[in-house]
Amino acid sequence: QKQEWAKLKDEPTVTKDGTHVELVANIGTPNDVEGVLNHGGEGVGLYRTEFLYMGKTELPTEDEQFDAYKSVLEQMGDKPVVVRTLDIGGDKELSYLELPDEMNPFLGYRAIRLCLERDDIFRTQLRALLRASTYGNLKIMFPMIATLDEFRQAKALLLEEKENLTKEGTEVSDNIEVGIMVEIPSTAVIARQFAKEVDFFSIGTNDLIQYTLAADRMNERVSYLYQPYHPAILNLVNNVIEAAHAEGKWAGMCGEMAGDSIAIPILLGLGLDEYSMSATSVLPARTQMKDLSKEELASYKDQLLSMGTADEVEAFIREKTNQ
Ligand code: PEP
Ligand code: MG
Repeated sequence: QKQEWAKLKDEPTVTKDGTHVELVANIGTPNDVEGVLNHGGEGVGLYRTEFLYMGKTELPTEDEQFDAYKSVLEQMGDKPVVVRTLDIGGDKELSYLELPDEMNPFLGYRAIRLCLERDDIFRTQLRALLRASTYGNLKIMFPMIATLDEFRQAKALLLEEKENLTKEGTEVSDNIEVGIMVEIPSTAVIARQFAKEVDFFSIGTNDLIQYTLAADRMNERVSYLYQPYHPAILNLVNNVIEAAHAEGKWAGMCGEMAGDSIAIPILLGLGLDEYSMSATSVLPARTQMKDLSKEELASYKDQLLSMGTADEVEAFIREKTNQ
């Protein structure tokens, strides 16, 4: 089986009926890029920049960040690299920021919420990204977006820093797509409104599932409720994809679900464009895609979206795809 995977390393990802999709990988540091390329990743779908900030005693400087972003972009050449801005808080702490303890850290002061208040931290990251943008195919995405206002504010800061850099004589790319993670149900529900303003969506199912089913993703006691195939999740995902396509935008997914062999046929049928997973899942997923018919899977869409339980969904997909 490994041999069959290896043959597909430098091949595009095409389904049995000729649909192209993009299989990209999640990374945490520039050192992970080699693994993405070795495993046939067509790009980076999620660069978790938190690692630049963690395990340190102070904030990373603009130059330190610039070096990391430039390194990733250069190594990836013209392949797309989606960089997520700082997603700290929740389970990820930074000792030097001295954030107060919270009753519900996952519902608290984190990610874009923190960045919009501490715009000094945010602007430094945006400047580093903008400066690195001429070294490859950069796309920027904001995490934990719950309202349109948050997106508008974040994008305004980005444009402000772009203008500042241009005035200073620093070159910045003019083709940076700016998108959001869809990991909060409010955003998935009004995806149509978001789709008019963003360049792309990347669905973060790790958080979207926990918020939709109100089940802490780290808590074993309630892990039975953490159901990727729950029809509520499928309906939200479908809503996001339809909204994107109605505005001519693309929709990806960067949660664990994107590399799951039961989820892949479902997502293909719903029309997902980009699948971002751990690098080692890329070749198995490409192999699986080769045997799937998008047209056939799309014909199950209404049936799947009207099912009552995750178990029904899973049994149905297992039967249709011989798993
Ligand atoms: C997600 O929430 O699905 C996601 C990809 O982000 P993280 O796992 O870093 O929260
Ligand atoms: Mg998340």
